[in-house]
Amino acid sequence: MSDTVFHKIMRGDLPADILYQDDLVVAFRDISPAAPSHVLIVPRKDLPSVSDVTEDDRMLVGHMVLVARNLATSLEIEGEGYRLVFNCGENGGQVVPQLHLHLLGGRKMSWPPG
Ligand code: AMP
Repeated sequence: MSDTVFHKIMRGDLPADILYQDDLVVAFRDISPAAPSHVLIVPRKDLPSVSDVTEDDRMLVGHMVLVARNLATSLEIEGEGYRLVFNCGENGGQVVPQLHLHLLGGRKMSWPPG
């Protein structure tokens, strides 16, 4: 089993500001927020990145998106808009090798990203 910082949070070995959890995912505030609201939605299943997602994970990945959308509503950032990001691999800027979806909101974001 992988043992990233996110696995430690999911096991309860590291503290985190958890906003939501269920059988499939845990969502907690990013420790170094890039926006006023910055939440990570992480699957409990070991999956290093989007590159490791298979057909079997269709429902899981869809669930991650719906959890992010519901959190955007509860954090009251849905009306003004928000960004969902999967960083993948080195060029994608992924640092933690466990799949996670970033939910960012509360400020205007530029495009394209740097
Ligand atoms: P990524 O670059 O897509 O792999 O994003 C990893 C994210 O995890 C970064 O935004 C970090 O700030 C965040 N992060 C790292 N360690 C922790 C932690 N202990 N609790 C919450 N977020 C963390």
